[in-house]
Amino acid sequence: MEKSKVLIIGGTGYLGKRLVKASLALGHETYVLHRPEIGVDIEKVQMLLSFKEQGAKLVSGSFNDYQSLVNAVKLVDVVICAISGVHIRSHQILLQLKLVDAIKEAGNVKRFLPSEFGTDPAKMANAMEPGRVTFDDKMVVRKAIEDAGIPFTYVSANCFAGYFLGGLCQPGSILPSKDSVVLLGDGNPKAIYVDEDDIAMYTMKAINDPRTLNRTMYLRPPKNILSQREVVETWEKLIGKTLQKSSISKEEFLASMKEQNYAGQVGLTHYYHVCYEGCLTNFEIGNEGVEASQLYPEIKYTTVEEYLRRYL
Ligand code: NDP
Repeated sequence: MEKSKVLIIGGTGYLGKRLVKASLALGHETYVLHRPEIGVDIEKVQMLLSFKEQGAKLVSGSFNDYQSLVNAVKLVDVVICAISGVHIRSHQILLQLKLVDAIKEAGNVKRFLPSEFGTDPAKMANAMEPGRVTFDDKMVVRKAIEDAGIPFTYVSANCFAGYFLGGLCQPGSILPSKDSVVLLGDGNPKAIYVDEDDIAMYTMKAINDPRTLNRTMYLRPPKNILSQREVVETWEKLIGKTLQKSSISKEEFLASMKEQNYAGQVGLTHYYHVCYEGCLTNFEIGNEGVEASQLYPEIKYTTVEEYLRRYL
């Protein structure tokens, strides 16, 4: 496999740190942006130092200093951004417009992977307020990339397993109960769950692959396409016990959103589209897209059962 020079932005994040690990594991020359703004955040500084120890190069740069972004981008062939995009943590997707300008000006980047890693925003034109902001902002960034003629790959990673499997697909919960579960509606629409380390590895495999150039790469590991009911059944087999089940109707779910703050409402909207509407699986991947587990069958992905086993 061809080696690249890769810059990872947001490398200290939940997904970003895994991208750094996968990049180093595949032998790429790996640069990680170090933002002076992190100041005395000791955890982040220690994490960056540990990346350095493992062979990464730290590059100082800030979204408040455009020239520093241009200089950082000039060092590499590939830029991957994993800047935050979950409202309950932080949502900075539109900051990437500065990065797009920097990549355009630098002129040397062969591939840019923006911070996507979720539901394909191009399929969410009819998404609900307020959660549609995530998709709308990611589409604004896509348009800027395409208008600038920057070569890209968009990674549609579907559900991060930690959020969705950890909570048996219940919003607001990331540890599976051994007693009870609330099914969203009938619990039958299928979703797709991917281990976060696998997301990072598939992403890094794609960065210089001609088959993913200017395409969306969907992560659909076949064994991990399951309904909420099937996820619950997998957990029940592991714990050797049947959970007490109740169900929340679509109407009740939507009404409960009103009690949440803005960030909570954004999150619930996303669960609504995934778990009631089946938005991750209700379309075929067309000619514009490719599927990661078919492109890289050598990756032994973590199955839902293996992931859930961690909680025993
Ligand atoms: P995090 O919340 O962990 O943040 C990632 C990085 O964002 C941080 O390390 C930080 O970098 C950077 N950042 C935050 N604020 C700023 C700023 N003002 N300027 C520059 N950098 C900033 O992100 P996640 O890993 O949760 O999310 C990454 C992507 O994955 C997003 O696009 C998100 O939408 C998607 N996602 C998808 C999920 C799914 O289920 N499909 C679930 C969760 C996320 P620094 O270290 O420099 O401060």
